[in-house]
Amino acid sequence: MFDKVKDPVCGMKISKKTAAATSEYMNKTFYFCAQGCKNKFDDDPLKYIETEENRSGCCG
Ligand SMILES: [Zn+2]
Repeated sequence: MFDKVKDPVCGMKISKKTAAATSEYMNKTFYFCAQGCKNKFDDDPLKYIETEENRSGCCG
């Protein structure tokens, strides 16, 4: 079974198994397609994380 996740920095869909880098933040693991994406994330995680509060609108 493919375990696809989204690289929060560049938006690329990647597999957890093939992720080039991972980072843990707020008890969650984030997966990245490249070390460069992880570096950007580590620099400013909140910029890339989609939280419930960040989403605008209510009822999609
Ligand atoms: Zn990426």
